[in-house]
Amino acid sequence: MSINVQARTTCRLCDSLDLQLALELPPSALADDYLPAEKADRSRERYPLNVMLCSSCGQSQLEHVASAEAIYGDYIYRTASSPGLDVHFESYASDVFKVIQLKPSAKVLDLGCNDGALLRSFQKRGAKVVGVEPATQIAEALSASGIPTINDYFTEASAQRVEQAHGLFDVITANNVFANVDDVRNFALGARSLLNERGVFIIETGYASSLIENSVFDNIYHEHLSYFSVAPLEKFFNSLDMEIIHVQEVPTKGGSLRAYIQKKNGPHSRNSVVSELIRRESDGGLFDGSAYKRLEERIQKVKTESRSLIQSLKNEGKKLCGYGASATCTTMIHTLELGSDLEFLVDDNPIKENTLSPGFHLPVYSSKYLVEEGNRADVALILPWRFRDQIVERSSKFTSQGGKFMTLLPECQILS
Ligand SMILES: [Zn+2]
Repeated sequence: MSINVQARTTCRLCDSLDLQLALELPPSALADDYLPAEKADRSRERYPLNVMLCSSCGQSQLEHVASAEAIYGDYIYRTASSPGLDVHFESYASDVFKVIQLKPSAKVLDLGCNDGALLRSFQKRGAKVVGVEPATQIAEALSASGIPTINDYFTEASAQRVEQAHGLFDVITANNVFANVDDVRNFALGARSLLNERGVFIIETGYASSLIENSVFDNIYHEHLSYFSVAPLEKFFNSLDMEIIHVQEVPTKGGSLRAYIQKKNGPHSRNSVVSELIRRESDGGLFDGSAYKRLEERIQKVKTESRSLIQSLKNEGKKLCGYGASATCTTMIHTLELGSDLEFLVDDNPIKENTLSPGFHLPVYSSKYLVEEGNRADVALILPWRFRDQIVERSSKFTSQGGKFMTLLPECQILS
């Protein structure tokens, strides 16, 4: 199967052609292509992973766009496997009620709603909820569970179907989906058409400033077409006759941005935090390329340190495996060139068992495999480094049998 991957020459937000290369990561296979051996032919192929910066509006985006069919064709739903999300959705819904003084009887639409976890947090508080979800099985299960769900990608066209069936909304959320959309203008106009006069559109998405400051470069992969920040988003929404009224920084995914947007001259006044973040983005060098230079230096440092530590372990005859088989792990393996150092990967998500990793085709096993009949590796390198503590906590058998954990970020070290 050939995959449609094309270079995009215009800024997704302002249509400018003036895009500059800000960060060049090594080409990578599609990050979540953990496929069984018989389907894994296509996952050897690698595609450029270049972050471009728009000189006109400050938007960051990948140069190469893989088609949605290529990425989501074998779409495996993953939300439930990410630790801590239930708590996050509870505070998300509670924040929204406070920030825009939402009435309990509000109507809420979630775009790309997955298993409906966020919608349930709104529903519990009295809201009437509707979802839009492109994955057919998930959409059907959700409708059967009592949350009406339109099975489609969200566009201006599917927005019309939503309106015919459910009318207009007080709140429309798009949670970790806006960065995955190529035609954001069409998506945002679709959302705009479904807002009532008081309505607010809320996007939560990876924040470019946090990605750089927290060195979360493993969030850069082909699913994430955009790395948003407030200043370019403000210009973009203004061009659609909309305005950002509030922004919050939230800790998910190593640092995300939640932006509240209304139609121009809507009922909410603009919170001063919007200008504060824009100033901070500019002062931090997000738009002149210097912030990406810092990130590049940091990646080089991590790479040098990790090469040296791994080489010394290999000189001692130690056997290494990777702990983690997610999309972020794929970027870690490609960027830090770990493919030939790791003998296999383990993961706690049963969906990943008995697959081959994208690019390097490392075999992926259940995390139980690591400790069956004694430890299968001497050192397990924790790839999803932000979940280090949870992984160590649930792996006491490995360490009690003499196994060691290793991390590369935030520090390159063997854990004692
Ligand atoms: Zn632009």
